[in-house]
Amino acid sequence: MHIRIDDTVKVIAGDYRGSTGRVLKVLHDKNKVVVEGINAVFKHVRRSQKNPQGGRLRKEMPMSASNVMLICPSCGAASRTGTRYLDDGSKERFCKKCGGATGQISPPKAAFAKK
Ligand SMILES: [Zn+2]
Repeated sequence: MHIRIDDTVKVIAGDYRGSTGRVLKVLHDKNKVVVEGINAVFKHVRRSQKNPQGGRLRKEMPMSASNVMLICPSCGAASRTGTRYLDDGSKERFCKKCGGATGQISPPKAAFAKK
């Protein structure tokens, strides 16, 4: 999975192609993401204890992670991501366009550290 919660992503396919949004949720087992304002539907809800009025509820539905690209915080372009190990053995994600780091994936591990 190249996308993480709180990333800003660009939709590259489907009805919302071209729009951007913040990632609210990542469903790793389904390879899907929920993006703020993207793929939104109106859910009609019946009156209930929790929702005494009922009515229409706007809700974003999960969409395939392959349809979004990360917007790199350092260069601002929608880019593919890679992973690499740093000298201290930690693993980070990086932008393949500018090479900038886009967040740590795992803490330092001695096995991957450079001697
Ligand atoms: Zn970049």
